[in-house]
Amino acid sequence: MRWHGVNEFALIETHFKRLAMENVSVAVDLGIGDDCALVSVPAGKQLAISTDTLVQGVHFPDNTGAFDIGYKALAVNLSDLAAMGAEPAWFTLCLTLPDPSTQWISEFCQGLSALIRDIPVRLIGGDTTRGPLTVSIQVMGLVEKNRSLLRGAARVDDDIYVSGYLGGAAVGLKLLQQQATAKTHQHPRLTEDLLEAIQRINRPMPRMNLGRGLLGLANACIDISDGLLADLNHILNQSQVGAMLDLESIPIAPALQNPEGLKTIGFEPPELEQARFFALTWGDDYELCFTAKPSQREEIQRLSELLKVPISRIGQVVAQSGLYDISAPGKPLEAGGFSHF
Ligand code: ADP
Ligand code: MG
Repeated sequence: MRWHGVNEFALIETHFKRLAMENVSVAVDLGIGDDCALVSVPAGKQLAISTDTLVQGVHFPDNTGAFDIGYKALAVNLSDLAAMGAEPAWFTLCLTLPDPSTQWISEFCQGLSALIRDIPVRLIGGDTTRGPLTVSIQVMGLVEKNRSLLRGAARVDDDIYVSGYLGGAAVGLKLLQQQATAKTHQHPRLTEDLLEAIQRINRPMPRMNLGRGLLGLANACIDISDGLLADLNHILNQSQVGAMLDLESIPIAPALQNPEGLKTIGFEPPELEQARFFALTWGDDYELCFTAKPSQREEIQRLSELLKVPISRIGQVVAQSGLYDISAPGKPLEAGGFSHF
């Protein structure tokens, strides 16, 4: 295919093949260039496969730069591998572009490279077409046979945990939307936690080491893309159990708890309940939510210290289906139950 003088084969040669060669730590039998790539799955391992598509204006704001789009498209895919406890190995990239410029593609590939430097994974193929800006990545990882962390593996009395802090991406998105409409001279100086919030939305860091470390420790696990409550609900439904949550222990992102910082950008600081609501229901943070037997508490604490990843214990798995708040255990915490926020 040819657009405005940009030739698909030239793109593959100059950008994608080079990107594929940047990380040769992962073996591939046959990479980019033939009709298929060929890989071998080592004995005793299973191939974990996941795919996620990002559409402009739907999964990232229209003004997102090419670097961030590349970074995020790969990051959200790797997050799914993390949630299964799999180690990244390969990925394919399907890129649909309305009007490709070499500059755009070069920045896009730099975004991918930046993440690959932290998390080795190898580009082994893809497709390049013309249309509305869409990035579809498929990741493949390796995991010890029959040891993956599954959504359906939560057991009654398990503790429920979440990594990191939640709700930062909500602030990040609001800020990006504000910047899109603001004049450049109106940009205020952003505090550390606000910069971190923007980072959250554009360059989420998948919790690879935590996912790997939880193998053998955790029962069920999921990555939080749609909001803690929604994603925890997937675990509960698939495990046919319920959860009693201690809402006070939900780790709220620093950006949501810094009234001074929020005021500098003209945002009304939320009340604690409202901040907690963002942390419980907002997506895009890509933290892990998992369950584990109470006898694993010390090991999980040790893992948190080793990896320097904050981990909060936020509740307990119960037999009764549904979500409950430990301070008002009588009534289920249905989505509608949050209308007072
Ligand atoms: P086919 O027509 O057989 O699908 P293509 O001409 O689309 O092959 O692609 C040629 C080679 O380049 C294939 O190995 C394919 O995997 C690779 N490729 C094409 N587009 C991309 C891309 N966006 N990223 C990585 N590899 C790509
Ligand atoms: Mg093709």
